[in-house]
Amino acid sequence: MDYGLLGEKLGHSYSAIIHSRLGDYSYIHFEKKPEELDAFLKTGKFDGLNVTIPYKKAVIPYCAELTPQAQALGAVNTLVRKSDGSLLGHNTDYFGFETMLKHSGLSVSGKKVLVLGSGGASNVAVAVLQAHGAMTVVISRQGQNNYENLHLHADAAVIVNATPVGMYPNTDAAPVDIARFPRLEGVLDLIYNPARTRLLQAAEDRGLITENGLLMLVAQAKEASQWFTGESISDEKIFEIHQQLRQAEENIILIGMPGSGKSTVGRLLAEKTGKVFVDADALIPELAGKSIAEVFAEDGEDVFRQHETKALAYLCKESEIVVATGGGCVMRPENEAILRQNGIIFCLERRLDSLEAEGRPLSQSVGVAELYRIRQPKYAELADYFIDNNGTPEEAATAILKIWEELE
Ligand code: NAP
Repeated sequence: MDYGLLGEKLGHSYSAIIHSRLGDYSYIHFEKKPEELDAFLKTGKFDGLNVTIPYKKAVIPYCAELTPQAQALGAVNTLVRKSDGSLLGHNTDYFGFETMLKHSGLSVSGKKVLVLGSGGASNVAVAVLQAHGAMTVVISRQGQNNYENLHLHADAAVIVNATPVGMYPNTDAAPVDIARFPRLEGVLDLIYNPARTRLLQAAEDRGLITENGLLMLVAQAKEASQWFTGESISDEKIFEIHQQLRQAEENIILIGMPGSGKSTVGRLLAEKTGKVFVDADALIPELAGKSIAEVFAEDGEDVFRQHETKALAYLCKESEIVVATGGGCVMRPENEAILRQNGIIFCLERRLDSLEAEGRPLSQSVGVAELYRIRQPKYAELADYFIDNNGTPEEAATAILKIWEELE
């Protein structure tokens, strides 16, 4: 049986990976231009399709039947070939967003929920939220409720981002400043790449409930798979695949004093996880056009730190990598969001008298003890976990992997 994903530009999509874990069938990418759509839908060889941007409405005329959800949303994200050869159109995004909302633990009944964006995903979110008793307000750039009059909604309890603002590769953007919403309880972001958009990070910093769009993506795929094959799949499978995807996609970020073993442990972790190891400092000579020692000697530490931030911003929006950072990167506040967007941060700790200072300009000029005194509070602020690296690198890597395997 042939299933797949239909869209105009598919690029890197998690759908094929997710479906390979949901059932034993082939799942192909069908990238079609608008002028190719008609012929493909009439004569294409497929038993079922997921449909994505920009065809969720365009496929409707080709459906002999629509489910009530597809009808209510005016959008189809799943096509199923029936036994008579005709197509049934359904929308599994509803189940996807509802799964995400429920998992967040947010209660929206009777509360004001702002839904940012007025596209297809916004329609789905509004339908689910209203079914759960929320009072929804759609914020649209051209709408009556827009980004200029957000003050009218300072009482919002929940924000749902259904715009692409903050999505890879433009990960340093956020659609709104949540400081404007003092009564906020939670933020849901339909974006899943990066795992923690700037919007979600701001919400996490305030201790609010947050959830990204990965669970929605997996849940909608699970329901689509059931429609494809007719076989029921337990909801537990959603969480199992979600966890596997997180472990595969998210980055392992190593911070710690110069000489604490970040590169050695990082290489081991990359070997064990199949992720790619990157030493952030190795990018700096290319960005600066000179060696790190020359940058320090000729331009000073500030310029070095600027190059370092650029290198980290370039690297850390990618996925599936292990990053060994420079020991002082924690000193620049803007690096925190960059490191955290796709990664879990581990701080390696090693006795100061065993830290290697050779070839490390600041360890030599300032002294290791003084550097540690200055940086320790920053390591403590940034680290999700501290890892003792006074034993072997293998032991430190194993300790990190143990935590990694328990990520949910
Ligand atoms: P869409 O139809 O293109 O709609 C996005 C809406 O966002 C637009 O209608 C627009 O609303 C607003 N928007 C677009 N560019 C903007 C900008 N630069 N600044 C502010 N607002 C902007 O896309 P969609 O299908 O609804 O998807 C929206 C987001 O949800 C995407 O990031 C997508 O990846 C994500 N999504 C995730 C899942 C999942 O399973 N996790 C499923 C579906 C979608 P206004 O013109 O009204 O401002």
